[in-house]
Amino acid sequence: MRDQFGRSIEYLRISVTDRCNFRCIYCMPESGITWLPKPQILTYEEIAAVVRQLAPLGLTRLRITGGEPTVRPQLETLISELHAVPGIEDIALSTNGAKLPQMAAMLRSAGLNRVNMSADSLRPERIAVIARRDLGFDPVVAATAATAAGLDPVKINVVVIRGVNDDEVEDFATLTLRHDWHVRFIELMPVGDLAHTEFANVVPSDEVLARITTRFGALDPANGPTRGNGPARYQRIPGAAGTIGVITPLTHTYCDSCNRVRLTADGRLRTCLYGDHEVNLRDALRAGEPLRPLFERALAEKPKEHELLKLRVGGLKALSEVGG
Ligand code: SAM
Ligand code: SF4
Repeated sequence: MRDQFGRSIEYLRISVTDRCNFRCIYCMPESGITWLPKPQILTYEEIAAVVRQLAPLGLTRLRITGGEPTVRPQLETLISELHAVPGIEDIALSTNGAKLPQMAAMLRSAGLNRVNMSADSLRPERIAVIARRDLGFDPVVAATAATAAGLDPVKINVVVIRGVNDDEVEDFATLTLRHDWHVRFIELMPVGDLAHTEFANVVPSDEVLARITTRFGALDPANGPTRGNGPARYQRIPGAAGTIGVITPLTHTYCDSCNRVRLTADGRLRTCLYGDHEVNLRDALRAGEPLRPLFERALAEKPKEHELLKLRVGGLKALSEVGG
C-alpha cells in the first residue's frame, strides 16, 4: 500500500472519542466545546470493520488515541477485536495516563502491546494547571503500572512550553537513568488557547538537548525502542536504562518518511495531521459499500508534506479533534 510519493502506508491512528478528562492548555479550551453527537461516532464494531477491510491492503500497525481513549467505556473490547484481525501485528495506545494504573493490566490482556503516555510535569500542582484538572495523576506511578503490566515500550511524551514546564527538562531526563522508558520532548504546536501567542512559547528541540547535555554531558546515539519507531530521534545519557527523544514538527519536519493515516472518531480518514485532506469512510461503511476505492483515493491525494509553517496559526485544528 503506497501513496502517490511511494511512501509505504502501514500504520493507522484511530481516534475513538473526541472527549477527554483533561483540558490541556495547548490542546482543548476550558469550555465551549461542541462534542460529536453519539450517532456520528463509529461504534467499536464499525472501527473493527474498517480495520478488517484495510488490513489485507497492508495495514499492520494501529494506535488507539483520542481525545482521551480511556474515557470511552470498555476500551478493552475494541482492543481484543482489533487484536483478532489477521495481519494486525502491533497495537499501541496514546493516553494522558490518568487511568493507566487501573487499566494497564486489563488492556495488556486484551492485546495491547505498548503505550505512549503524555506527561508535561512531574509536579502535582503544575500538572493540575497544565491539564486544568486535578485527577491525582502521577506520571511515575502510571508509567510504572504500564511497565509492570508488560506494555513495552513505554514512551513518555512531554510537550515543552516556555515559561510553563521548560525548567523540568532535566527532571524528565533523569527518569531515564533508572527506568527503561523513552522520554520524548515534543515541540509545542501553537494551537488551542496558546495559539494567539504564535511561536513564542515553542522551545526548539535543539535547545532542549542543549539543556540536557549541559547537565549530563554528551549523549550517546541510541536506536530508540525496537517497536514503533516513528518521527522521534533518540539518544541516551551514557549508562542510562532508557532513552531521550525529540519530536520536531516545527524545526525539522519528517514528512518524507510519513507512514501513517488517521481515522477520526466520526469516521473520516485523514492522510495528514494538518490541512483538510480527508475522505468520509463512515457513510460508505454504513451504506455497505467497499472502503478500498475510498482508501486508494485518499492515498493518491496524501500531501507530500504538511503546511504548518506556511499556515502558521490559521489552519490547524486542536489535536484532540484529530488524535495527535
Ligand atoms: N489524550 C491522549 C494524550 O494526551 O496523549 C491522546 C491524544 S493527544 C491529542 C496526542 C498527543 O498530542 C499528546 O502527546 C499531546 O501532548 C499532543 N498534543 C496535543 N496538542 C499539542 C500541541 N499543541 N502541541 C504539541 N503536541 C500536542
Ligand atoms: Fe486531552 Fe490529550 Fe488533549 Fe490533553 S492532550 S486535552 S489529555 S486529548
